[in-house]
Amino acid sequence: MGVMRKGAAGIMATTKSTKAAGKSRYNELKTMLEERRRELLNEVQGKIRDVRAEGNKERDVLDQGESSEVDIQEDIEFALIQMKSETLNKIDDALARLEQGQYGNCFECGEEISEKRLRALPFAVRCKDCEEAREVAEQRARQMAAKRGTASLFLDM
Ligand SMILES: [Zn+2]
Repeated sequence: MGVMRKGAAGIMATTKSTKAAGKSRYNELKTMLEERRRELLNEVQGKIRDVRAEGNKERDVLDQGESSEVDIQEDIEFALIQMKSETLNKIDDALARLEQGQYGNCFECGEEISEKRLRALPFAVRCKDCEEAREVAEQRARQMAAKRGTASLFLDM
């Protein structure tokens, strides 16, 4: 398999030519994000209801030891709620970026990130190729740093 190298001009042309087809992609991504948003919102609201209901119900009948267990459980529930709320914020962010035409394109090369990838990782900022290239580069940088580390260790001696 030959690797096709695209110049900046080639990328610009690709971006332009996909503008027309971009409408259905926009709709797909919007639906995907909104569905996720709805699910999360339901979960968050459901959890808040659960915590409130259980807090009221159990505290009356439990002794001190048991009620501190309930507190821990509530802490976990609240941490979960907080995590989900943060994800909700990210989805709102992504929706706002989608409106501005800035969602779903690779941060590095500007190519569209595949819909499949975005469904799996809605907050991905790089396409698969760039992400893999970055991982390789990071690995190499780590190896270099390790080598430098060893070298300077010898120099210090
Ligand atoms: Zn890319």
